[in-house]
Amino acid sequence: MAGKGDLLYAWTTNDELREKAETGGAVTALLRHALESGMVDAVFAVRKGADVYDAMPAMITDPAEIGGIAGSLHCGTLLLPKQMRRCLLSTDPNMKIATVLKGCDVKAIYEMAKRNQVNLDNIIIIGLNCGGTIRPETARIIVREKLGLDPDDVVKEEIDKGKFIVITKDGEHASISIDELEEGSEDLLGDQGLGRRSNCRRCKIKIPRQVDLACGNWGVIGEKAGNATFVEVCSEKGANLLNAAVKTGAVATEPANPKGIEIRGKVENAMLKLGDKWRERYFGALGEGTERLNKIREQTSRCIKCYSCIENCPICYCVECSTRKDYLVEPGVIPPPFMFHLIRFAHISDSCVNCGQCEELCPVEISNSVFMHAIQTDLEELFGFHPGEDMTPPVLALVEESAERDRLIATGSDQIFDVFR
Ligand code: FAD
Ligand code: SF4
Ligand code: SF4
Ligand code: SF4
Ligand code: SF4
Repeated sequence: MAGKGDLLYAWTTNDELREKAETGGAVTALLRHALESGMVDAVFAVRKGADVYDAMPAMITDPAEIGGIAGSLHCGTLLLPKQMRRCLLSTDPNMKIATVLKGCDVKAIYEMAKRNQVNLDNIIIIGLNCGGTIRPETARIIVREKLGLDPDDVVKEEIDKGKFIVITKDGEHASISIDELEEGSEDLLGDQGLGRRSNCRRCKIKIPRQVDLACGNWGVIGEKAGNATFVEVCSEKGANLLNAAVKTGAVATEPANPKGIEIRGKVENAMLKLGDKWRERYFGALGEGTERLNKIREQTSRCIKCYSCIENCPICYCVECSTRKDYLVEPGVIPPPFMFHLIRFAHISDSCVNCGQCEELCPVEISNSVFMHAIQTDLEELFGFHPGEDMTPPVLALVEESAERDRLIATGSDQIFDVFR
């Protein structure tokens, strides 16, 4: 029987699922077991959208449809928890869910749980190791300009051993090193060149362990390489799911190879060092003091106040957003006063999880996530608050604002965060 802390190789015993899955299909088989056995009412994950560069959220209640979500999408840059919440609100907020999340998704779901937007007791989280994602439009440029192929001919993409790899409909394989792609990134606050998204380069959550089961391919060596999933059991809930799936024969396991465990540790450390290197480069490009302020003011001066950064941020949930209050941000004025951005820095920078949505979805390409992440890392050093790691309340939870808030806390109301700021 597996228990918390165990490190295993796992794989699906179902040939059809194995065919569709990324590295062994344990994740899809576990999800199917959770659904079939009634442990959960639905599975929330992603599936391929219009093409291999596109990902769509998927809420699955029929176990027969689970094969449709197998496989990894490295250009699918959706942040899932906020989408999950929207789905739950339109169906049943108390549904029991099993979900698959990358590190930034995991951090986001914890910050959302603190704000009463999701209930972690109802959710089984399978976390994925993550080396990074590439924006769909960037991936198409890489395929066309660097690999000399038609992006529409690609039927499969992968990121493996530091390379972006594609396979075409004619079975042609082509690849390029991610380091090589990112070497050309000169203007980190403008055209960043090719390679992974800016937040992925700075990311330091490679194996998310605040989940139930952390899964990936790092450390799977020998004859199982490519055919098994490396599973780290991170909670009793995760152990229960894995043991139940093994008992029914849906999943098979064996102890992870000690050499593989060592390799996994080394790769994780190398990725963390790479994250540090990119943080230095990005935050260095911002400069210090007034130089930094002026760079932020200059970039935000092209804001068109579309609210995309707020609507897609996993930290922003207030019913009455201060950036919509006439006395703080004059309505109808484009660009909005700098106060618009200062409000966001003040309200959420302690909790930013570096998911990159505010940058990726900004129509005028403001480096929002670089600014917020830079402030967040400074605040982390100042106050010791690590967003998304556990259920510790954010720094702003210490703000005493109103009698109304005290009343809500006293009554345990879900609305606490609505009046929080
Ligand atoms: P499958 O049975 O194929 O199931 C995969 C699950 O992942 C499905 O539920 C699917 O919905 C979900 N999924 C696919 N794409 C996404 C996405 N973009 N966001 C959220 N969920 C998604 N492992 C490593 O060890 N090192 C890495 O560097 C690494 N990088 C990764 C980067 C990305 C963007 C992704 C999505 C995964 C990465 N993985 C990495 C994990 C690895 O690719 C496999 O997902 C893992 O080994 C599980 O394999 P499996 O065969 O059991 O998964
Ligand atoms: Fe993966 Fe980190 Fe990028 Fe999220 S921010 S997609 S966890 S590399
Ligand atoms: Fe301004 Fe960009 Fe935010 Fe839209 S997404 S409000 S343009 S900063
Ligand atoms: Fe993600 Fe941007 Fe919000 Fe930070 S500020 S959590 S990067 S959307
Ligand atoms: Fe986000 Fe602040 Fe608006 Fe709340 S008030 S939604 S924290 S910007």
